[in-house]
Amino acid sequence: MTMGQIIFFTACFVYNTGMDTIDRRYLRYLRYALQWGIVIFLLYAGYRFFFFVEHFLAQHTVIQETEEAVLRSRFPSVEGFLPIGALMALKLWMTAGIIDRIHPAGLVIFAAALITALAVKKSFCGWICPVGALSDGVWRLGSRIFARNFIIPRAADSILRSVKYLLMAFFLYIVILKMPSFVIMRFLEGDYYKIADVKMLFFFTKMTTATAIALSLLFLLSLFYKNFWCRYLCPYGALLGLISFFSPLKVTRNDAACIHCGKCTKNCPSLLPVEQLRSVRSPECTGCLTCISHCPAQGALDMSIYRKRTLPPVAAVFMVVVLFFGCIGIAKLTNNWDSAVTYGQYQRIIPQATHLNHP
Ligand code: SF4
Ligand code: SF4
Repeated sequence: MTMGQIIFFTACFVYNTGMDTIDRRYLRYLRYALQWGIVIFLLYAGYRFFFFVEHFLAQHTVIQETEEAVLRSRFPSVEGFLPIGALMALKLWMTAGIIDRIHPAGLVIFAAALITALAVKKSFCGWICPVGALSDGVWRLGSRIFARNFIIPRAADSILRSVKYLLMAFFLYIVILKMPSFVIMRFLEGDYYKIADVKMLFFFTKMTTATAIALSLLFLLSLFYKNFWCRYLCPYGALLGLISFFSPLKVTRNDAACIHCGKCTKNCPSLLPVEQLRSVRSPECTGCLTCISHCPAQGALDMSIYRKRTLPPVAAVFMVVVLFFGCIGIAKLTNNWDSAVTYGQYQRIIPQATHLNHP
């Protein structure tokens, strides 16, 4: 099925169910609900994962629970925090047709983010990503505390924005160009990667002083500046932004209907000058629809397909949800979601996790 057909069927579904009549003002609340719902779910997944790891650290033997029950207590969604491994797994899948069995959920989440970016701009960042939600929450808190957010001067802003692209280029160079498939396979099958998610947990639960300082600094900068992490540092978002160039959907402004109130520009979390644009093509646009949600003029701001036909904004939201969670659903149905790491392997590797270094 092509992207055009997906958009067409989604639009038909939205029109036929009357979803296109939903008041656009509610779009932003829908976004908060989805983002924060995902944050809460991941916090719960992290809480369960903590006890899963504790089970092996305390060298528990299975008495009341079965090994299967212990393995089931770990939600595979935690693998979404392993994007570099997922990039390697994607290359392996594309070049050798082999699906990573160690952290398949990481690969699925990464692929789903790429697919949604291809369809609806950088919508993973705007609608799904928990880091995006936290970043959003922190700058909103900052604007309450200081009654405003600060703006980095344009020249410095441009230089800083290039940092995430440099990081992205670095990872793509190392993984896509420099790592042969057999090296990737050896890495993915190694003990280090088997517990890469445990290492990620320790990054937070056994935080070093340097990590604590770096995270505190990031928190402070995020209080002052809108989406500091996403705008300047996230290589994941940089990649999705570049892919989103090919998305047929764009926020489009109709100058004849626009009353030039400036609400779209003022409320855009990505600091885009929507009021001055005919179509938002920037890779910074997350498809969050905040601009459309705030626009008071009927027909002034819409989502359009190749700038030719307008699409109800709620159809774009629907597409994000269907594509992202659809990928996860397909992975589950085809047994490509759960890790193949066994209870015995966890039992052997997790107790040595703190001493296990990158091969
Ligand atoms: S232009 Fe609109 S959809 Fe794009 S990031 Fe800004 S507010 Fe969100
Ligand atoms: S919010 Fe709507 S009416 Fe106001 S400037 Fe933007 S597009 Fe025009």
